Amino acid sequence: MTADLIEREQDNRPTTRACASAAPSASIPASIRLTPLHRWQREHWILASVFAAVTVLASLCTPRFADAHLGNGTEVMQHLVLDLPAQPSATLSPGFFDTPEWTTVRIESGQTLGQIFDSQGISARLLHQLLDLPGAREPLTRVRPGAEFGFARNAAGEFVAFRFERDETALVQIDIDGESLRQRVEPRDLQRRVVMTSGVIRSSLSQAASDAGMSAAGVLEMAKVFGYDIDFAQDLREGDRFSVVYEDIYRDGERLRSGEIVAATFVNQGRTYDVFRYRFADGRTEYFDGEGRPMKKSFLRMPIEYARISSRFSSARRHPVLGRVRAHRGVDYAAGTGTPIMAAGDGKVTYAGWQNGYGRVVIVDHGQGYTTLYGHMSRFGKYKTGARVRQGDTIGYVGMTGLASGPHLHYEFRVAGVHRDPLTVTLPKPQPLPASELARFQNQTQPMLARLQTLDATQRGLAVR
Ligand SMILES: [Zn+2]
Repeated sequence: MTADLIEREQDNRPTTRACASAAPSASIPASIRLTPLHRWQREHWILASVFAAVTVLASLCTPRFADAHLGNGTEVMQHLVLDLPAQPSATLSPGFFDTPEWTTVRIESGQTLGQIFDSQGISARLLHQLLDLPGAREPLTRVRPGAEFGFARNAAGEFVAFRFERDETALVQIDIDGESLRQRVEPRDLQRRVVMTSGVIRSSLSQAASDAGMSAAGVLEMAKVFGYDIDFAQDLREGDRFSVVYEDIYRDGERLRSGEIVAATFVNQGRTYDVFRYRFADGRTEYFDGEGRPMKKSFLRMPIEYARISSRFSSARRHPVLGRVRAHRGVDYAAGTGTPIMAAGDGKVTYAGWQNGYGRVVIVDHGQGYTTLYGHMSRFGKYKTGARVRQGDTIGYVGMTGLASGPHLHYEFRVAGVHRDPLTVTLPKPQPLPASELARFQNQTQPMLARLQTLDATQRGLAVR
């Protein structure tokens, strides 16, 4: 099976580019040109999305689940939508949008803020004033194509108000009265719907997930929560199956995107993996397996996302550049130049520099005799020799410096100074939750496990057909 089993989340969001030839915006400094929306907004939101969905789902999903209808001969079936208790959706305060004559402008790719405002006959000076309002600059300069701005004029044709969506949860309106600018924020509530679905892999994971009604982002979430146990680029087989309980995020009745996975089962090559999102008493969430062991392991399976293994660990192979037979004491991952390379585990950078053969190389010491090495980088991340890194931190980017016939990451794993095959080395199991927490964990996850098992049982019948 190859890497096409999973398609990387396409960063489809078109980015607005600053265009030097854009004459009308010539007076607008580059710092306020539109720049791509950064990921922090989504992650920021996810961090904030803490809800007791588990218990709610357990009480809600039974009746409709029992009614779930199996289509004849279809691989994928249930896609149940379970409404969480209604949260009042945002109601706009009276008068919020009733300023006369609103014009809505949709942002197009390549447009600058300056161009948009200029096209509305608004001066660069006023734009600067808007941007200087607290909290306005960041969202306005990161706005993406497809977003909409509202411009309001009074009967005399004067520009009196401007509005924009600051983020998923807030609308902002700025009222302009001569020299005085007043900013109003209207919060918008998000709703979470818990969805259950399942599928069997026939051709690819992305196909099965799409048949099951999951978005590409949902598939990525799944790859993330199971990523320590299942290598989605290498390990998937036809007949593998999954059952997932996840959140869909809605606003004003409209689906925005998929949210976090609440619980899931993945059967890979006959082995069953369960994952549960567990909410600690302080509201923090983490993913655990059915026994209460963290899904997050001391080391990532691969220090790079969805790359293809181009050369394995071996005691003798013909070197592609030198032509000589010699040991290959690591694993090579072929990936495009510039692909981020992650620290496989928490640790300390003991070396970030140039070494013959390895080119630009980083070595991380993880303590207890474990070290990892990352070679042929095109450039380093922000961590220098001596810096502490966390698992997943970007320590460099794929390249072909040193002895390399093409862009790839050369990855080595050493235990007590001895090279080990990173793909097969056995690592100590992480500690499960303490007994006191475990009882709470089981209470929280038991009902979910029962649902997953029922979903999976029906799916298993399909998988073995
Ligand atoms: Zn190599």
